[in-house]
Formats: sequence, structure tokens, C-alpha cells
Amino acid sequence: MNLDFVAGKTFETIDPRTGETIARVSEGDKEDIDLAVGAARRAFDHGPWPRLPGAARAKIMHKFADLIDQHIEELATLDTLNAGKLFSWGKAVDIPSVANTLRYFAGAADKIHGQVLKMSRELHAYTLLEPIGVVGLIIPWNFPSTMFFVKVSPALAAGCTMVVKPAEQTPLSALFYAHLAKEAGIPDGVINVVSGYGPTAGAALTSHMNVDKVSFTGSTEVGRKVMQAAAASNLKTVSLELGGKSPLLIFDDADIDQAADLALLGVMHNKGEVCVAGSRVLVQEAIYDEFVKTLVEKAKEWVVGDPFHPNSRVGPQVNKTQFERVLSYIEHGKREGATLLTGGKPAAETGFYIQPTVFTDVKEDMMISRDEIFGPVMALMKFKTIEEGIKYANNTKYGLASGIVTKSLDIANTVSRSIKAGVVWINCYHGFDIDCPFGGYKMSGFGKDFGMEALHKYLQTKAVVTPIYNSPWL
Ligand code: NAD
Repeated sequence: MNLDFVAGKTFETIDPRTGETIARVSEGDKEDIDLAVGAARRAFDHGPWPRLPGAARAKIMHKFADLIDQHIEELATLDTLNAGKLFSWGKAVDIPSVANTLRYFAGAADKIHGQVLKMSRELHAYTLLEPIGVVGLIIPWNFPSTMFFVKVSPALAAGCTMVVKPAEQTPLSALFYAHLAKEAGIPDGVINVVSGYGPTAGAALTSHMNVDKVSFTGSTEVGRKVMQAAAASNLKTVSLELGGKSPLLIFDDADIDQAADLALLGVMHNKGEVCVAGSRVLVQEAIYDEFVKTLVEKAKEWVVGDPFHPNSRVGPQVNKTQFERVLSYIEHGKREGATLLTGGKPAAETGFYIQPTVFTDVKEDMMISRDEIFGPVMALMKFKTIEEGIKYANNTKYGLASGIVTKSLDIANTVSRSIKAGVVWINCYHGFDIDCPFGGYKMSGFGKDFGMEALHKYLQTKAVVTPIYNSPWL
């Protein structure tokens, strides 16, 4: 696909099942971002989108969602080909969910209103919630479709116009969505997709003087750069959804079978390329040995293979860089003295497949316990008391997600209040719903995606004040 960006450059995008190039994609740079921001600015300042009644915006968003429903197979295929995601999951869950994300926020588009204020003086005042303006949306590669719509949908409902920079590893579905947006009747200039690299196209967007807000999902390291660029340019507002090293706490009273299933789901789902991956599994000592036995048995159920095959549960890592990064963490784990219980090796001759990997005897200061690996690698630790479990769980710079497995309401209530993370899943994991606010504590970022809180990221409040009796002021 070549969409003629200014410099006429392209970059290759690959199929992680083989490492082979499947397409060349136009490489947007600073000039292209400038043109895209210009188009978004004109559409915001003079175009119909921010001025349409909410119901009219909603109608177009519903049409967009319907078009996605009509192309579920193609869209799931693109994310499988480009990101190695399970096709069955994309078809049944990811792609239908993005259509529903659009519908969820479409339902809010005609319910955006301020408040009437009771003032202490003889003044009448009300607030208007106005779209924040031109927004830059920068997304990662692990959920190309989900990430696109958790940002685009609330921004559309709010009446913003936008420039989206998909990850360079997975631009294909984003380009398809741009095409469907046009077909749905989203006016020109409202959604602009610029494929390209982070340090060029991404950085140009975050430092652009005509962008009013950046919503970023990606690594903590790049999140810091995004904030610095915003501060050094026009002080645009920023929201950051960043990395994690999430703990799953399993207490003595847990059902061991259920706990082992949840632990594996937590970290092996999407081959571990999940920001909320439950990569640190903390197990209370009385059940530790039995838990480990059950876990190793159940790990075999996580079949590695072609993500198009219905029996596969673990596809390939997204690319060679990620594949090598995960393997090098596994080597670190071995060198640091953790015990490799299962996995630890590439799972195929070609492609970027890695065996589901479990380490025991992990210590808090080991790299595999501190760093986000973003692969199918579990670090298992043992704890004695509830207090010690909480202490281990919170011993991380991150605070994105967490999980608890217990039958005790007391433990669930106490621990969920003590964990410093944006979500606590009790007796479940990856329990997402578009209505439930999602976002990090600590260095996992700030500002929620999902839920009505996400809509408010794309709005700003204006106060309008007038004397009640129209009397001369002063
Ligand atoms: P990344 O930070 O390398 O890249 C994310 C995006 O930022 C990409 O589009 C990239 O091109 C762009 N980018 C890179 N450098 C940039 C710069 N200097 N200026 C502006 N943009 C730049 O992250 P990744 O490797 O694509 O994704 C993995 C990371 O994303 C993990 O840390 C993961 O935890 C995180 N993530 C977080 C969430 C969440 O909701 N909290 C969800 C998914 C992924």
C-alpha cells in the first residue's frame, strides 16, 4: 500500500510467522504530520464535525461500527498477519469489541453537557463542555485495533479532530480503518492516519504547536519523551497509558486448578504482549508446591503455533527485535539464579515463536521480576503472610493492573485496597469492559481509557457567567 507521503519513502511490514515482508507502507515524516495536523485543524476550526449535534455524530459513528462488523474477517486477518495475534480471538473478540467501543461512545455523543451553577453572588453561570481540539493519538503494536478505537471513539464523540500514528510494526489495520471512516461519512480532515516511525512522525506530532492534546499508549520510556515534548512545545495536555509488571496474588485458600488457569491466562494471553500481563505470580507458601505442579501440567495446554490455526493459543512475538528481547530476558533469568521450570526456548525453526516459560525461585531484585518483558514469561515467587504478599505486589515502579485469587471476602477487600494499581481483578484476569475505566497508577501513566472518564479527556470546561438582573457590573 502506498499513500504518497511527501518524501515518497516506504518501510516494510512483516508477517511474524515467517519474518517475511508482506507489504511496504508509506513512511510519514515531519512534513506529513504537518499536513495532517493542518487538515485536522481546518476540520476542527471550520468543518462540520465539532458543530454537528451529538446525535448526528453518533449516527455516523454507528455506520462506522456497522462497516467494521461487515469486515470482521479481513480486519482480524490483518492483525493476525501483521501482529501474530490469534485469528479466532480477533474474529470473536477483538474486532467485534472495537465496533462496540464505537457504539458505546456514540451513545454518549448527545449527552455531553455542563452544569448550571449556584453562585454566591447575584450571578448566573453555567459550564459548557467543549471538544479540546486537534488531538494526536499514538498507539502501540500489541492491540492494533483495540488501541485505535479506545482513542478514536471518545475523541470522535467529543467532537475532536485527530491525527493517529499507529505503531510502525502494525500499520495495516489502521489504514483499513481510515478507509472505512471515509466510507462511513466521517468528514475529511477528522481522522488522519499517518504511518511512520516514533522518533520521526511520532515526535513531530507530540511537539506540534497546533496539536491541543496527545493521548499516548506505549512504553514508559517513550511516555516520558512525550511529556517532555509537550512541555517544550505548546504545553498541550497529555495522557499516558504505559507499561506494567503486574502481580497476581494467590492465597492459601484458593482453588489451585482455577488459580493455575488464571495465572497462565494472565501472562500467556496474546503471547505475553499485553500491558497488563500478570507476569509476577505470587503464591502463598502452604499451596506453593502443589500449585507449581498443577501449573506445569497446565502450561502444556498453551499450544504454540500458527495464529490462524484454531488449536493455537500462543502465536509468534511481533518481530525479531521483540523475539530476541524476550529470549535475552530468559537468559538473564537463568544467569541471575532463577530456576527455569518449563519453556525457555524458541518454539519453531522459523518465525518468532517462544515456548511458554515459567521461572521459580525468583527474587525481588532480579531483572525478570522488575522489568516488563512483554513476552510469555512468568516469574513465580512465594510469600508467607498477607502483608508480605502486598509488599511484594507493590514493589514495582509500575501500577497498571493486579489480580487476587482467594475465597475470602476479607482478604479480597483488604488486599484490593492496599494494592497500588489502576485495576484489581478478583478471581478473574483480563476482565475488561468498555464501561470500566482503565489506566495506571505510578509509572504506568495517568488518564483513563475506557468508560466515561475517557470521553472527558477529550473535552474541556468553559464557564459562562452573567449577572442575573442584567444590572450594570460594579
Ligand atoms: P513504544 O513506546 O516503543 O511505542 C509506542 C508508540 O509510540 C508507537 O507508535 C511508536 O512509534 C511511538 N513512539 C516511539 N518513539 C516515539 C517518540 N519519541 N515520540 C512519539 N512517539 C513515539 O511501545 P511499543 O513497543 O509499541 O508497545 C509496547 C509498550 O506499550 C509496552 O510497554 C506496553 O506495556 C505498553 N502498552 C500499554 C498499554 C496500556 O494501556 N497501558 C496498552 C498496550 C501497550
